Amino acid sequence: MSLIERWRERLPVTARTPIITLGEGNTPLVRADRVAKAANLPPGSVFLKIEGMNPTGSFKDRGMTLAISKAVEARARGVLCASTGNTSASAAAYAARAGLRCIVFLPRGKVAAGKLAQAVMHGAEIIEVAGNFDQALVLANEAAKTRGFALVNSSNPFRIEGQKTAAFEILEQLGRAPDNHFIPVGNAGNITAYWKGYQEGGAKPRMFGWQAAGAAPLVSGRPVANPTTLATAIRIGRPVSWNGAIAARDESGGAIGKVTDAEILAACRFLGRAEGIFCEPASAASVAGLIKLGKNGRAPRGVTVCVLTGNGLKDPGIAARFAPKIRRVKAGGRIKL
Ligand SMILES: *Cc1c(COP(=O)(O)O)cnc(C)c1O
Repeated sequence: MSLIERWRERLPVTARTPIITLGEGNTPLVRADRVAKAANLPPGSVFLKIEGMNPTGSFKDRGMTLAISKAVEARARGVLCASTGNTSASAAAYAARAGLRCIVFLPRGKVAAGKLAQAVMHGAEIIEVAGNFDQALVLANEAAKTRGFALVNSSNPFRIEGQKTAAFEILEQLGRAPDNHFIPVGNAGNITAYWKGYQEGGAKPRMFGWQAAGAAPLVSGRPVANPTTLATAIRIGRPVSWNGAIAARDESGGAIGKVTDAEILAACRFLGRAEGIFCEPASAASVAGLIKLGKNGRAPRGVTVCVLTGNGLKDPGIAARFAPKIRRVKAGGRIKL
């Protein structure tokens, strides 16, 4: 069932809204006892929401199914967005399905290979921006004033509405509200959406957002002009949903912290080796944050859900940083194991 049909009564749709779907949502919530152990927490206290299992490999599909459906309902000529990669991949796929033009503004050289491949294969018109994501977004906002185009960045309220359904799923899958929710934060749409979803579901977990140390405006309290991190999906210096993130933090009694690229990479590798889950680097920021708190004995008590926002295959180049020792053998030769 499509995400819109599943949660129809809680979403801004009517009988006249066409549903553009790729079968998004309903992603696995997986118990992660090795992560719990690494964070000095008891077995059964940590769960991972695997959002990389969505159709285009990231949580962006939850918001995009609604944003594109509403664009079709409004008879838009096309859609456009600025993107660190996953928004463009998702927008391109759903726009292709809807038969809409899709124009994407991408920061030059900072989009992971898998994401660019998706934009190409789904036929998006690609505009490369000599600048970072924040600067690409300024251009996209300007272009969105062109008649007939819908902006499908997370400033589009339908994106947030669609993304909040992940919180509904977690409440159903756990059979209770988590005590803590850990999530990577870039433009801050997703933490805003989860907080909205939890509240609508009658839950109040503490919200813990994680930024990359080189792109942590919500931690320092001021925009970062030149954000840097290898976690390209959260390489953002001026989050659009700034207020939403701060409200989620303060209303829930949570925190927004930062993790270094080394901590992100270590968590990414740990998830691959110890839990069998390959996520992209930005996604691992949530788990990196939990392990970091746990090492100091400060991981919050109770049940914690960490969101893994995107699939590891998006950014295969990252594996080169962990090049293993590879042995060689001739065809028909012998090798000792
Ligand atoms: C978009 C994205 C994020 C950041 O989400 P925001 O809503 O911008 O905070 C994190 N991880 C991945 C994989 C993403 O694609």
